[in-house]
Amino acid sequence: MTDDPLAVRLERVVGGATAKAFERAFGHRTIGDLLTHYPRRYAKRGELTPIQGLREGEDVTLVATVQRSSERRMANRKGSLLEVTITDGIGTLALTFFNQSWRLRELAPGARGLFAGKVGSYRGQLQLAHPDYELFEERAAPIIDPDEARAWADLPIPVYPATGSLPSWKIAKAVGVALDVLPAELPDPVPIEIAAERGLVPFRDALERIHRPRQDADWRTARESLRYQEALVLQTALVQRRDRLRAAHAVPRRGGPLLERFDAALPFALTQDQRAAGDAIAADLASERPMNRLVQGEVGSGKTLVAIRAMLAVAESGGQSALLAPTEVLAQQHVRSIARTLGPDLAARLRPVLVTGRMPAADRKRALLAVASGQSRIVVGTHALFGEKVSFADLGLVVVDEQHRFGVEQRDALRAKAGAASPHLLVLTATPIPRTVAMTVFGDLDVTTIAELPAGRAPIESFVVPLAERPAWEARVWQRMSEELEQGRQAFVVCPSIDAKAAEEGEDWGQSGSPIPERGSAASESNGPAPDHAAPATVVDTLASLEANPLLPGRRIRALHGRMTGEEKDDVMAAFAAGAIDVLVATTVIEVGVDVPNASMMVVLDADRFGVSQLHQLRGRVGRGGLPGLALFVTRAPEGTLARERVDAVASTLDGFVLAERDLALRHEGDVLGAAQSGRRSGLKLLSAATDGELIAQAREDAIGIVAEDPDLERHRALGEAIVRRIDDEAGEFLTRA
Ligand code: ADP
Ligand code: MG
Repeated sequence: MTDDPLAVRLERVVGGATAKAFERAFGHRTIGDLLTHYPRRYAKRGELTPIQGLREGEDVTLVATVQRSSERRMANRKGSLLEVTITDGIGTLALTFFNQSWRLRELAPGARGLFAGKVGSYRGQLQLAHPDYELFEERAAPIIDPDEARAWADLPIPVYPATGSLPSWKIAKAVGVALDVLPAELPDPVPIEIAAERGLVPFRDALERIHRPRQDADWRTARESLRYQEALVLQTALVQRRDRLRAAHAVPRRGGPLLERFDAALPFALTQDQRAAGDAIAADLASERPMNRLVQGEVGSGKTLVAIRAMLAVAESGGQSALLAPTEVLAQQHVRSIARTLGPDLAARLRPVLVTGRMPAADRKRALLAVASGQSRIVVGTHALFGEKVSFADLGLVVVDEQHRFGVEQRDALRAKAGAASPHLLVLTATPIPRTVAMTVFGDLDVTTIAELPAGRAPIESFVVPLAERPAWEARVWQRMSEELEQGRQAFVVCPSIDAKAAEEGEDWGQSGSPIPERGSAASESNGPAPDHAAPATVVDTLASLEANPLLPGRRIRALHGRMTGEEKDDVMAAFAAGAIDVLVATTVIEVGVDVPNASMMVVLDADRFGVSQLHQLRGRVGRGGLPGLALFVTRAPEGTLARERVDAVASTLDGFVLAERDLALRHEGDVLGAAQSGRRSGLKLLSAATDGELIAQAREDAIGIVAEDPDLERHRALGEAIVRRIDDEAGEFLTRA
């Protein structure tokens, strides 16, 4: 139990039905959740929201004035249509209501208020159908005093991230109720000396000011204070975690003859960066403290090789390594390529083995035995490695490939398999992580970067195929593909979804682990991609249409997607790798790590449905075999939309770091963090990894000071509670999603 007033369940304050609505819409469970649902911006009763520039599909909340309203009978249907035109003084927007005559009275010309809904269009005109609205109250007596009139017009009205069922003003009401019952004093997570030094307002005040400001200065100072608080809470949690990991004991491991033999047999020289990463890892492994290192590098930069060398160093002393892959296909590919890279002698000694959930029981049993007995020193698997039945003889190293698919909890679960000593941990990611994000999320990891690609890599050419402006180019895409196939090469065609049903459910997006559906798509005002109401391209339809395409006669075209069994996927992948398939029509299951050197072309359909880093990774599948790669990003998103901008950004550069920065700027950081941390959205609220790097760095310094002097936060209880609230929040999200 806790006496933290912010931990009080929401239903005790706003009632059961409202609490349920908030849980459904935003996952809120406690007062703290509700009170950290901060306004996105502030409107003014005296300032109308510009209507020009609204885009179809956006969820908007506007301050506007009713210009005219009228009602008419419907021509083809029973009932009446109430048409209201609202204006910002320049542009106008139509509101429509069916069978709601009674609204005619209150939506009279001159009425002003907040209007909220999803922007739709009818006959080329933008409109809100059945919007929610709240009109500003009429004053009982006209305001005579000009100061009072100005105050009324200038009072900031919070505009919250809202949904169709919870418009901004309902949220404001619930927040008001919560603030009213909140004690007058709230323990402040920010230590008083730090608050004084930085001129921050106390927590309780800040909550009041951010939700019920009387003037702009109120919410501005409140935001600053709460932003710093957020950074401090996050950094303190990360610093604590890091210190705990560092305090753990690990078995030191050193490379020797095995590694030397391996290096000598390599058909190429290590790149400078691979060598540097190898040195850093060797030093970490030789220490009695567990290694905790992230290696980031472009697709194809040779990270897997770096990991194999680390595994060899561990194997040298009889230790085992576990390599965790995000998908079955990748795990299989890894174990094959590791065996190949090791060569027959080393492979026979180290016995790389696969453990996945889908393997036949007998194989699995045999594999688990080899793992438990210690015969197998390299174990490759999927999530199945977390399973209870999996036990290691001497787990010395955990390698996590493609970090963004694995969360902190999972890393910990695997670590727990090592018994008394902690295993060393090596995380590989091809998603370049901007420095600020590395600090925010991976504050507990040391970071090594492999920037240099092995020599002789052919460059990838990328082009956008903008169907909105150039519909005829679609045919050219397939023309180009037939030419590529003509030369004996192979191609990928990537679709956002498997079939129409999956598209509806957004299934593939969930599976892909890449958070393209933006942070609370329903709750976002304009941060999301420009929504495209046309159904996305599907694997099933695309396969059928390519098979019927006269440009591709007799071509062997097959599908690959997440609904196939592991075996089916493996068969298809193996056939593609062997050149027995010309065109692979797939979802993002091919995203990471798949290596088919003869595949030189990739077509991504409805590319705007994918995230920036996802597109970049997808593109990395081609151009791996010394053949120049070609990536065509087909999109129906018109120029000028955010969705299109993302696709253009990917086509404009091959530099993953530039893209990662661009990506940060283009979407909400919460997504980046959520993705990076654990494949789910996590809530950075006021903090922006893109722009608050300096602040985060300062908070980190403060956090290091606090934790050094009070490791268990015994003298910083409010800070400790704030960390608990945050963790609960994330656990809550995890449960809801599971
Ligand atoms: P990543 O995991 O970073 O995407 P991989 O480790 O899979 O990259 O390497 C991609 C390909 O490059 C593999 O075929 C690998 O054998 C090869 N490779 C790795 N290091 C080098 C190097 N130093 N020189 C040439 N080829 C390399
Ligand atoms: Mg790899």
